[in-house]
Amino acid sequence: MIVLGIESTAHTFGIAVIDDKRILSNERVTYSTTTGGMIPYKVVEHHIKNVDTVLLKALQKANVKLSNVDLIVYSESPGIGHMLRVGAMVARSLAIQLNKPLVGVNHCIAHLEIGRMLTGTKDPVMLYASGANTQVIAYQGQKYRVFGETLDIGVGNFLDSFGRALGLGFPAGPKIEALAKKGNNLIDLPYIVKGMDVGFGGLLTNLKTKIKTGKHTTEDLCFSVQETIFAMLVEVSERAIAHTDKAELLLGGGVACNKRLQEMCRIMCKERGAKLFVPANEFLIDNAAMIAWQGLLEYNTSKKSMKIEKASIKPYLRTDDITVNWR
Ligand code: AMP
Ligand code: MG
Repeated sequence: MIVLGIESTAHTFGIAVIDDKRILSNERVTYSTTTGGMIPYKVVEHHIKNVDTVLLKALQKANVKLSNVDLIVYSESPGIGHMLRVGAMVARSLAIQLNKPLVGVNHCIAHLEIGRMLTGTKDPVMLYASGANTQVIAYQGQKYRVFGETLDIGVGNFLDSFGRALGLGFPAGPKIEALAKKGNNLIDLPYIVKGMDVGFGGLLTNLKTKIKTGKHTTEDLCFSVQETIFAMLVEVSERAIAHTDKAELLLGGGVACNKRLQEMCRIMCKERGAKLFVPANEFLIDNAAMIAWQGLLEYNTSKKSMKIEKASIKPYLRTDDITVNWR
C-alpha cells in the first residue's frame, strides 16, 4: 500500500510517501525568521505557497505517481488552527481528486509510533519535547497516558521566546545549543518541577529580567538555561519510568535534537538500567513520514475512511483522548 502523509500543525509543512515497510520520501519546508516569532497568517501564506513544490518533490523522490497513492493521511490534531487547516484542505482535495480513503491522526502519537517503528523500542516512556508540546507519555490500558507535562508553555516555545529576547530569531533552539557550548558559569535559575509536571513561564520572566541587567554573558545564560530545563525534563522522565516500571526511554520532538539533552537522558538511563532510543533528527522534528505511518497503522486496524465533510481539524485534542486500538 502506498501512503501519502501531510504534516501541517505549526511551522512545518511536509509531505511524505511510504509503503508498508519503508519511508520512500519525507519532504518539508519550515517557516523561519531572523527576528521575531511566527505569526500564524504569515505561516499559512508560507505553507500554501509551498504545497505544489513539496508534493512534487515527495512524489519524485519516492518515484511514485499520484495515481498510485492508496491512502491519504493528515495531521488532524493538535496544533495551530490556521496551519492545521492548510494540511486538512490539501488532504481533502487529494482524497476527492484520487477517490482514495482519508485518515486524520494525532501528531503527538505519531511522534511516538514512528519512534517505535524506527528504533525498535517496544514499550517506552516517551519524552516528547517539541515547540508547543512537552509531555511524558506511556502506554497503559489502550491509551497513551500523559504522566507529566508542561503546566504552561512548551519547552521549545520557551527556548524560542528566550531566544527572541536575546534577538536570535526563530527557531532559537539550535542557536541556543551552539551558544551554550561556549558558556561555563552555571547561573542559579528557577527550577520548576511540580510532581510529574514542569513549568517554564516563571523561568522566562526571570530570564527576561536577567537579560536586561546585562550582568551575564549570552553564552552563560544559554548554558545555564539548558542545564536547568533539561534537568527538569530528565527528572520527570525518570519518575515516569520508575512509576510505570518500564525500561525504555524514547525521545521525540524538535528539542530532542539537542545533544546535551540526549546526553543527560543517556546518563539517567544508564544509571537506572534503562535503554535510550533516539530517532534521527529528521524524525524528531515535525515530519510527514510519521503522519503517514500513523495513518497506515490506524487504517490497517479499522479499514475506515473519514467522510470528506467530517475531515476537519481538532486543534486541542489531547494525546490521552485517543483510544489506541492498533496495538
Ligand atoms: P517541533 O515542534 O517538534 O518541530 O520542534 C521545534 C522546536 O524545537 C523549536 O522550538 C526549536 O527551537 C526546537 N529545537 C530544534 N532544534 C533544537 C536544538 N538543537 N536544541 C533545542 N531546541 C531545538
Ligand atoms: Mg511535533
